[in-house]
Amino acid sequence: MSESSASLSDLVVERVDFGIFVLDREMNVLMWNRFMHDHSGLSAEQVVGKQIFASFPELPRVWLTRKLESVFQLGSFAFSSWEQRPYLFKFDHDRPITGGVDFMQQDCTFMPLMRDREVVAVCVTISDVTAVSIVRREREEAVAKLQEYADRDGLTGIANRRYFESRLRDEYTRWQRYGGDLSVLLFDLDHFKKINDRFGHVVGDTVLRVMAQRVAEVVRVQDTFGRFGGEEFALLLPCTPLEDAMLVAEKIRCKIGDTAIDVQGTLVPVTASVGGACARTGVPAYEVLINEADAALYSAKRQGRNRSVAFN
Ligand code: GH3
Ligand code: MG
Ligand code: MG
Repeated sequence: MSESSASLSDLVVERVDFGIFVLDREMNVLMWNRFMHDHSGLSAEQVVGKQIFASFPELPRVWLTRKLESVFQLGSFAFSSWEQRPYLFKFDHDRPITGGVDFMQQDCTFMPLMRDREVVAVCVTISDVTAVSIVRREREEAVAKLQEYADRDGLTGIANRRYFESRLRDEYTRWQRYGGDLSVLLFDLDHFKKINDRFGHVVGDTVLRVMAQRVAEVVRVQDTFGRFGGEEFALLLPCTPLEDAMLVAEKIRCKIGDTAIDVQGTLVPVTASVGGACARTGVPAYEVLINEADAALYSAKRQGRNRSVAFN
């Protein structure tokens, strides 16, 4: 390399917008560029000639030593992305305070420097990928939120029918394979048309929302409570025999009917009828389970409403 080419290389190394430094086998720093100086606050004069851990005791010593050793031994490149290890050096980033990102996110490359077919040193590069990582994190959060919305009912915030049925399908498949107990309850509010006619649709909506909230508060975490349609709700009870499910049905029916719902000063009395069914031999599909709970619900309506009936 000519003299001028070598000094041009030096200029480039100093000016590039990523970190470059070189370590020997004993982890001594042989070179340290401007980027590393600017972000660490330690200049080449302060760092070169010393072990890197003397200047940066907080570095992940075991991990970095192992990484370097593999490059010295194998003579091939190694990488570490921010997704595996968010950063090697605790550098500040130049972004506004953003949730979750505390330090500059870094991609690192470990490049063997060869002389006479032997690795004499390892050149490490550090790229600032904070912007990329923030965009990625935001996208992941947005997708998670969309997923959450996709599973929820817009009016009440509880599970929607699609999600409820997917949970039921999963639990039903598990029951087919491992047995045990699995029950389903269907709730339908009584004479809800009359409530709408008397108080108006907006009040009707509020009643649905408050009622769903009331029930959601008493439902166990392992159970799934969903809006099945209009003023119909469903509760999935894994590991629960029908007898116990009917106790839950009564508890919820009382929770709904015992106190009228207060909609901005207007007291709206509301009751519900409940039908229950359980998985057992002879129930060939989860849809049948729903139909049986629905038949029991219909029977509760015929018997005078505000009651729970088990399918038999
Ligand atoms: P019952 O179930 O006791 O036999 O009588 P019902 O009056 O509740 O009868 P049905 O189940 O057939 O009618 C349901 C009514 O619920 C029809 C509709 O006006 C009302 N409804 C359904 N979805 C909504 C909703 O999202 N908001 C409001 N406000 N009303 C709804
Ligand atoms: Mg109905
Ligand atoms: Mg109804």
